[in-house]
Amino acid sequence: MKDTEEIIENSEIEQENVDEEIQQTEEVTELDENIDIDETSEEEEEEKTEVETVEEKQDIRELIKSFQPLDYFDFVNLHIHSKYSDGKADFEDIIRQAKELGYHKIAICDHNTVEGHKHFQDDVLIPAVEFDCWCGYVFMHLLAYGIDVNNPVLDEFMAKTKKETEADIVRIWARRDVKKLINAIHEAGGIAVLAHPACCWALSLDRFVGKLVSYGLDGIEVHYPYRRHRAIIRFASLRQIKDVAEKYNLIVTGGTDCHTRNIMAY
Ligand SMILES: [Zn+2]
Ligand SMILES: [Zn+2]
Repeated sequence: MKDTEEIIENSEIEQENVDEEIQQTEEVTELDENIDIDETSEEEEEEKTEVETVEEKQDIRELIKSFQPLDYFDFVNLHIHSKYSDGKADFEDIIRQAKELGYHKIAICDHNTVEGHKHFQDDVLIPAVEFDCWCGYVFMHLLAYGIDVNNPVLDEFMAKTKKETEADIVRIWARRDVKKLINAIHEAGGIAVLAHPACCWALSLDRFVGKLVSYGLDGIEVHYPYRRHRAIIRFASLRQIKDVAEKYNLIVTGGTDCHTRNIMAY
């Protein structure tokens, strides 16, 4: 282990650069842990407070990019539904389970609503939503992560009735324009991610995703339970989806699309 002086010196250098280089947060945290072991001075205490602030501001893109395929679904699950839409679990109970089970991060993405996030916030929870929308003739689900749920720019895209958050038959009539929706998500500080792409009935997944990318799509859900998801309907393989993600340099996400009471079961 490095000696204290060197650690502090390095910490200060890191701190100067940290505003420009958010990805360095991890290194700073590592150093911070080292400092904890040694004697703590006032200077170091100040350092710790600053590090925490930087962590809070960590960019949603960098955060999601830091998740590894093996993190899904035991430590990270970015696709969970609560009773605010068609899930079976209470919103706060999902948070409680995630914390008890030691999840690093979860995202509750109710259909067309962020009501749950307006009522409950937690460190383990990423603010999110799953919108129904159309891209030409393709009906699709678009996930948004890291949004400011109180930003009024999103209001016009939210469900007006409870049915619009749960009933498939109602939701398929959504008139949300995917291009406008992606812009609104960006304006609210979030990223737009194509959900369960194998379910999208597009003649060419490549062209379909390419079109969404031209509208500003940031990511694609790659890690999810393909066999179970939407049962028989599967228009693309995991390989094809991985290839498309790579081709367009998209942020890769994953989640179980859990609708059950127990978040480990899906
Ligand atoms: Zn969906
Ligand atoms: Zn879903």
